Amino acid sequence: MSMIQVQDALDTILAKINFKGVEKVPLEQALGRVLAEDVVSRINNPPMDNSAMDGYALIAEDIQSATPENPVKLEMVEEIAAGYTAKGVLQPGQAMRIMTGAPIPAGANAVLMQEDTKKDGKIIFCEDKADVEENIRKAGEDVKIGEVVLKKGIPLSPAHIGMLAVVGRSQIAVSQRPIVAILSTGDEILELDETPEGPQIFNSNGHMLAAQIKSAGGLPVYLGIAKDTEKDLMEKFEWALQADIVVSSGGVSVGDYDLVKSSLQKMGQDMLFWKVAMKPGKPLAFGRIGETPIFGLPGNPVSSFVSFEQFVRPSLKKALGCSDLSHKTVKAKLTRTIKKKPGRLHFLSAVVSWTGGEYTVTPAGEQGSGILKSASNANGLLIFPLEADEIKQGQEVAVQLLE
Ligand code: AMP
Ligand code: MG
Repeated sequence: MSMIQVQDALDTILAKINFKGVEKVPLEQALGRVLAEDVVSRINNPPMDNSAMDGYALIAEDIQSATPENPVKLEMVEEIAAGYTAKGVLQPGQAMRIMTGAPIPAGANAVLMQEDTKKDGKIIFCEDKADVEENIRKAGEDVKIGEVVLKKGIPLSPAHIGMLAVVGRSQIAVSQRPIVAILSTGDEILELDETPEGPQIFNSNGHMLAAQIKSAGGLPVYLGIAKDTEKDLMEKFEWALQADIVVSSGGVSVGDYDLVKSSLQKMGQDMLFWKVAMKPGKPLAFGRIGETPIFGLPGNPVSSFVSFEQFVRPSLKKALGCSDLSHKTVKAKLTRTIKKKPGRLHFLSAVVSWTGGEYTVTPAGEQGSGILKSASNANGLLIFPLEADEIKQGQEVAVQLLE
């Protein structure tokens, strides 16, 4: 079997992933969800011209000559607090006390900030001039009626939540979360509350995958551990097919008990098995039974982790209708020279930091496919390109930031 490129595998997978659907949620539950509508404002924000300062609304032309030595005197005729509208129309020679956010009264065309004034009863001494429109926030300068303030396909951040509140939206259309079944495989794999004996190990992949699925916006369903028999695998996969997407780990390599591929093949068509030109994570099974995509990830913990990041996370983003399926990636300067054999794209667990105006990156310890400690100390995956065999200290490399 020939090896295929990471990008080709991803393109083939993404072509088979469908958008799940839309649901409405209250704003307070929308953080992190993917927006499923273009949000159009039905209001202007601010609704009317208002003051950016605590000070005095006035006519700019009245105070053109004002200086601290020769202040211009105006008569204060009214006070306007935020949330209230002036009763009168401002006339030449007059000022109105105005608070930040209060509407500019008719007749005024500037606000002089309080710090540039002195006051004696109803007389205001203006000690500086003002330009027309100074300290006035114009109606609609933030948002205009009919404006699209947020486009569908973005994961909602705290600032997005604020924006939705600005336009008065308490219910938001978001993408439904895909339900993702997780099946671990292997006779040697134990649940966490069991006691390992001899060669037995705990099911780390199952729990790590659940966390990855959650962080990608999916709803993980933990289906436990299948034995290395076609009978048990087929039974558990059959059950897993109730989910929107199925992710398994282990049993996709070339060992005598790697039976995930053959079990899935017996259950339906459309099963692809690849050697992907990447490290860690060479073997990958992908296909659909009916409409349900199934990812057979490799069993080695780092392989499972990295394969999820490269193939399953973008797929979940597509199922969620995200407009950007790519990883957050930065360019960073290598702090030491790295080497490898050409022919596979390597992902190195790495630590990226922002140091004095640039990113630097250092591989996080030993890089074996079974050494999860390095991945757990990393905040990024350094991309060591396919054909490269050496990248020197000080050169720039791309690093995917882990989410
Ligand atoms: P396999 O692909 O099934 O041959 O597994 C490759 C390696 O990954 C073996 O050393 C397995 O013991 C290990 N492995 C498989 N599944 C898991 C799991 N769920 N948690 C931790 N390690 C696993
Ligand atoms: Mg196995």
